[in-house]
Amino acid sequence: MALLRKKIISANWKMNITASEVSPYLTAFLEEIKGINEVDVILIPSFTSLPKTSELLSSLQGIRLGAQNISSHDKGAFTGEISAVMLRDLFVHHVLIGHSERRHLFGETNTIIHEKMKISHLNQMNPILCVGETLEERRSGKEKQVIEHQLREAFSGLSVNQITHTMIAYEPVWAIGTGQTASVEQAQEAHFFIRSLIEELSDASVSQKIRLLYGGSVTPENSEELLSAPDIDGALVGSASLDPRSFAKIVVQAQRNCTKE
Ligand code: PEP
Repeated sequence: MALLRKKIISANWKMNITASEVSPYLTAFLEEIKGINEVDVILIPSFTSLPKTSELLSSLQGIRLGAQNISSHDKGAFTGEISAVMLRDLFVHHVLIGHSERRHLFGETNTIIHEKMKISHLNQMNPILCVGETLEERRSGKEKQVIEHQLREAFSGLSVNQITHTMIAYEPVWAIGTGQTASVEQAQEAHFFIRSLIEELSDASVSQKIRLLYGGSVTPENSEELLSAPDIDGALVGSASLDPRSFAKIVVQAQRNCTKE
């Protein structure tokens, strides 16, 4: 019997939404998602907006907080870095690791990403590991090879329990912030491939439990179709999450999708 995985909708605000903009955002967002209880929502603000978001979310159940990055070091002389312990202190439960902007604009390698995976798990933070191919890699038919390499490196040496407590976001680089979404078929094929690989790296029960998110120009217009694919358990939303009403529409659609299943 197919296992029902709870849908998860996550907002990556990137370098947008200041601390003083968090409160009006949340007021508008919470108003729109009243009665939504079958979807996990994760907000991922910038570091400077994390304390305010954490404070405002503290009395709410069901909305979790994530960070956009984490240091691969424990503590010490690493100017400008933010450690896992600092994030835990703000009740941050999730962290984006390996986002394509970190990989391509800030030179994060698979080795660094692996270190960040390890330190997150050691500190009981659940990573959202981002993987995905560039347009060139897809055009040359290498997308599965790239995804497999990214996953094997990130998960190397991790325990089955740690793999279970990870979410994976498939984010084709060519679809991020471009308005060009992967087709449902392309996204489903990649998600199915990732789930099969997780089975190989752990076991069948983990691969059925682990939640796989799609990211890349998700909007209220295309989220319903994407979320109806069998291996797409949620969405990581960038641009469309900056408007609380538009992000709320995606959350509401995800709940509608759950109740259809
Ligand atoms: C992202 O940054 O993770 C993302 C998916 O962005 P966008 O929705 O803008 O493509």
